[in-house]
Formats: sequence, C-alpha cells, structure tokens
Amino acid sequence: MPAIPMKDPFDYIIVGATGDLTMRKLLPAFYQRFRAGQIPQGTCIIGVARTTSTTEEYRNRAKEALVEFLPAESQDDKAISDFLKFLEYIPLDAADQEDAHWPELCGLLKNEDRVRVFYLATAPSVYTGAAAGFAEHDLITPKSRIVLEKPIGTDLKSAEAINEGVGQYFPETAIFRIDHYLGKETVQNILALRFANPMIERSWNSSTISHVQITAAETVGVGSRGSYYDTSGALRDMVQNHLLQVLAVVAMEPPVTFSASDLRNEKLKMLRALRPMTEEDVVRDTVRAQYVAGKIGDKSVPGYLEDLGSDTSSTETFLTLRTEIRTPRWAGVPFYLRTGKRLPRKTSEIVIQFRPQPWPIFSEAPPAGRLVIRVQPDEGMSFVFSAKNPDKADFSLREASLDVSFSSEFHTRYPDSYEHLLLDTVRGDQVMFIRRDEVVASWNWIEPILSAWEGDKRPMETYAAGTWGPESSAQLLARDGFVWNEEQPEI
Ligand code: NDP
Repeated sequence: MPAIPMKDPFDYIIVGATGDLTMRKLLPAFYQRFRAGQIPQGTCIIGVARTTSTTEEYRNRAKEALVEFLPAESQDDKAISDFLKFLEYIPLDAADQEDAHWPELCGLLKNEDRVRVFYLATAPSVYTGAAAGFAEHDLITPKSRIVLEKPIGTDLKSAEAINEGVGQYFPETAIFRIDHYLGKETVQNILALRFANPMIERSWNSSTISHVQITAAETVGVGSRGSYYDTSGALRDMVQNHLLQVLAVVAMEPPVTFSASDLRNEKLKMLRALRPMTEEDVVRDTVRAQYVAGKIGDKSVPGYLEDLGSDTSSTETFLTLRTEIRTPRWAGVPFYLRTGKRLPRKTSEIVIQFRPQPWPIFSEAPPAGRLVIRVQPDEGMSFVFSAKNPDKADFSLREASLDVSFSSEFHTRYPDSYEHLLLDTVRGDQVMFIRRDEVVASWNWIEPILSAWEGDKRPMETYAAGTWGPESSAQLLARDGFVWNEEQPEI
C-alpha cells in the first residue's frame, strides 16, 4: 500500500472504542499507517465508549491489543509508545444527548478546519442516536464524515431507517458505509486485472466464461458472537454486503472514470440486474444449512447449537445460491455464491471458469481452464490451462497452472483492508464505500430469499464441521454440469 503522505493532522472519533473491532482491527490499522508515516503529528484519535476509563487506562488497554493482534514483525516498542500518544478516551453514551461527558468531547474538538471523522464501531441501533448527538452538540463541521459499520439494517426497512436517520445530519457525500472486502487489495486488483488488461477484459463475458464461483469460507464457528449471529445468519452477515459487492466488482461494466460516482453507478447496475428470486427459485437455487459437531483438521469441534447454548435455531451458518445477471455480457452465465462457518479451510476466492474447447481436435477433451483469484489468504491468482503432457507419447493433455502470489511478486506486506479504508475516510475518497442506493438494491434482492426461507417448513439441512457443506451444495452445481473448484479432478 503506497504511503501517500497525509499532510494535515485530523481528528478521528471512534465510537465503540473498547469493542472487538476497534481492538482487533482499527487500532492495529492506525498503528501500521503511523509506522508508514501517514499519521501526521497533532492528529487526535479519540476513543468513545460508555465504560468508565481514563485515557491512561485506555492507552494501556490499546497497547495490550496491539501486542496481541499485530504480527510480531510489525511490533516496535518505541513506535507503539509514540503511537499511543495519539489516543484519548472519553466515557460517553453517544446515543444519549444528555450524557454529562459531551463537553469533554467538544473540548477536544476545537479546530473546525481539520478533517473530522466519526467512526461508529457499535451496534447499528446506536447510529442514528449518535449522529443526532453530534448534531445536537454542534460537532458536525463541513469537513466532517461519518463511517457506518455493517450491518446496515437487518432488512430493507431497518436499513432505510438507518440511512434516513443518519442522513438527517450528514449528506450522502459524508457517509462512508464500510465493507472491508472492498478494502482488500485483491478485490481492488480485480478492477486492475479487468480494466488495465484489454486481453482479459475482452474475454470477460459469456462467450468465454461458463460460470463464476465466489466462496468465502471460515473455519471458525460463531464463538462469543453467537447471540448476534443467531439474529443474522450467513445471508445477512456475508451475502447482503461482502459477496454481493464482490459479485458487482467481478461483473460490472467498465466505469467511465475511476471516480466514486462512476464506479458505484456501475456496481449499482449489477445489483439491480440480479435475477429476482421467486419462492420457486429460492427452493431450487438456494441451499442453507447449519453445522453439527465435526473435525477441523485434527481438532474436534462442537456443533452450532452447542456453540449457541440452545436446543433449537433456524439460522443458517452455510449457504450456497445460484443467481444470474440479466445483462448482454452475462446472459446464461450462472454465478454461484457460497459462504459458511466451520468449513475445512479459511479462504475467500473467486473462480472464473472458462468454457471448454467447443470442437474435438484432440483424442481427449481438454479440461476447461479457469482463473482463480485468491482474495485471502495468500493473495494472488492462478491461471489453470491445458497443456501437452510431456510424459505421454501420444498427444495427450494435462492441466498446468500459472501462479502469482502477490506478496512474493511485489515483495510487500499485504496491508489489512482497514488500513486502506481508514485513510480513505480521512481523504474523503468514497470509491471503496457503499452508496445508499447500493444498500437498497442489495436488500431488495435479498428480502424475497429471506421471506421464502421463513415460509419454508422443511427441516434445516446440516453439515459436519470440517466439510464443504451439505451434499446439496455440490448438487446445485452438478445440476448445471459443474463442480466446486476444490473438487476439480486432477488430470
Ligand atoms: P463489540 O460489542 O465488541 O463492541 C461494541 C462497542 O460499542 C463497545 O466498545 C461498547 O462499549 C460500545 N458502545 C455500545 N453502545 C455504545 C453507546 N451508546 N455509546 C458509546 N459506545 C457504545 O462489537 P464489535 O466491536 O464486534 O462490533 C462493532 C460493530 O462493527 C458492529 O456493528 C459489528 O457488526 C461491526 N463489525 C464487527 C466486526 C468484528 O470483527 N468485530 C467485523 C465487521 C463489522 P461500552 O459497552 O463500554 O459502551
């Protein structure tokens, strides 16, 4: 990530400063950018949460988090202690306009010429109240921005309530809806791959591509987030935001320019072009399931209900769905989305599967090639293609692979996506953030699936932890003559 110097100091207010996201992601991301020389002296990072604590105590807690969550090679005692000096802490209920600590926050925010960012790292129920609090206490300046974490609502109505609520106090140009998948280098690299390489872009359509697979797999279960997750499930937690955003980036038409509005216009078109799901489509084209006890590697792990401490739940921890994009470029090309917890490997990848050779020249049909884009871990790409098998006397074929691991290719540390996104909010660059109409389009497409699932009385399918979901997930592709990438036969 280029260390573009940030010239002017800024004020960054993190509401939810004691939470998991701040400790695990935001503070380490700020620290890395500080080490890269991108946090100007005089910058103030103000932590806000209801817990009573002094700035000194907060800095100690932040230090523990940095030591726990930063990779060892990034830890430097002097840099950590210098970084901690940027931090302040105010105990404040941001949704309570009468809280006695507002004047302390106002006292730290005297300079109205500076960029001011309010990052809401709390549950969404706090967003509108906090935005109202900033307005009530005259903290919103022309250079202010507000960052909203996911989830933006649990359905269209609640999403629009948040958009309306926050929109009373901040214009759309100052609202940064974060989706950390868009901060990932490899997701951004899809834009470079397609739009900087005409050869690839010219093949990026239904005449060359037979289907697209987008997978986001986790090995972890729900852990301590079970009570939140049980109200959400994989469709709301992963598909409505991350996977649909990745799909939009993979499928979009070239934007006229790389501006936020042009790029987001093109993503929006893709979200609106998704084939709406009828109840019949949902039954045919979606699979949802819950993990039961199994093994991840050698380790036995409990099932979802045990993790949750409950006898029953109708929340999906895994799903596969098949959709299509109704545009000339993508006519007849299925897009399969798959995500789940307790799967065999942590991986996020996009597989662009090419069409097979249409005419039999060789004695055996050559395997159809594919491009595998690894979003995480080991960010990179593999181009799998057919080659002549040198070990055989006849002209037989085998698969060969061109692999690029971006970190070895570019000799660089791949930054966490929050490192990009935090600085984008300071620069006011909305390219990699989600616009309100995109949120609406996503929910419009997701809602019929949710309602069809609610009305579906069939028992929830299960899968053993450590497997790639229930058999029906593989069957959904098999029906179209395809297999998931990890099941491709070795030739
Ligand atoms: P946590 O429950 O760990 O933290 C919530 C934070 O908000 C705490 O610091 C809490 O502190 C504070 N808080 C709650 N209410 C108020 C209030 N009224 N005023 C001020 N502070 C308040 O949640 P996470 O950190 O896990 O998640 C935060 C948000 O980020 C959620 O929307 C989540 O969905 C999203 N997110 C989280 C990710 C993660 O990896 N954790 C990943 C992606 C998104 P206190 O109780 O002291 O007020």
